Amino acid sequence: MTSPRFKRILLKLSGEVLMGQGQFGIDPGTCERVAREVMAAREAGHEICLVVGGGNIFRGVAGAAQGIDRTTGDYMGMLATVMNALAMQSTLERLGVHTRVQSAVQMDKVCEPFIQRRAMRHIEKGRVVIFAAGTGNPFFTTDSGAALRAAEMKCDALFKGTSVDGVYDADPKKVPEARRYETLSYDRVLADNLKVMDAAAVALCRDNNIPIAVFNIREPGNLAAVLRGEGTSTLVQN
Ligand code: UDP
Repeated sequence: MTSPRFKRILLKLSGEVLMGQGQFGIDPGTCERVAREVMAAREAGHEICLVVGGGNIFRGVAGAAQGIDRTTGDYMGMLATVMNALAMQSTLERLGVHTRVQSAVQMDKVCEPFIQRRAMRHIEKGRVVIFAAGTGNPFFTTDSGAALRAAEMKCDALFKGTSVDGVYDADPKKVPEARRYETLSYDRVLADNLKVMDAAAVALCRDNNIPIAVFNIREPGNLAAVLRGEGTSTLVQN
């Protein structure tokens, strides 16, 4: 069997993916569906690092708009990502997938602290490593956390799971004739302010030559299909 182009990937999911049809919080059925996607990718021989956002529970910017100090709100957002990480850990382990959660904010009763060399060892042993609490710093996002961990973990690509099947030249939910890009350069994404990930995350991927695949995680079997080079996605690379 030839080695896949993207053997080790970092899968970034926004917290909203875990809400399912709800408006808020964690939907266990949706967690299981996402976990099965991760399991299928692992069974196909991929090494998986996972980063889940926290927007389904709390965002610092939204809190600041309502009077919560921004830094405090951002720490609340980071704690939200830990809850999501634990939900995914529990779901994956119920399906028989070995995992570890490593947090950028230390909380030793709950999970391991982020230690790059230890995370590498987990990956080598076939575990899915879930990185929680983003970068550990306020004024950042989990997109930046994902790009950072992808670089540290020497991932071959960053897979950004969304509710659309790639990057379009207009919002496909509003403009029926919107066209999907097959590939894009990092610089084009930044210059045109295309909604892939936030600019800091895109720049970090560009500087470390990590391709970004944007795909629809809501479509069953799609992660494994895109990893096989099938399915629809947009690839951002040099
Ligand atoms: N956050 C932060 N630093 C980080 C990562 C996250 O302060 O490195 C906070 C920030 O308030 C953010 C929230 O955690 O709004 C949830 O993360 P994000 O908005 O990236 O989640 P997503 O949109 O992916 O669900």
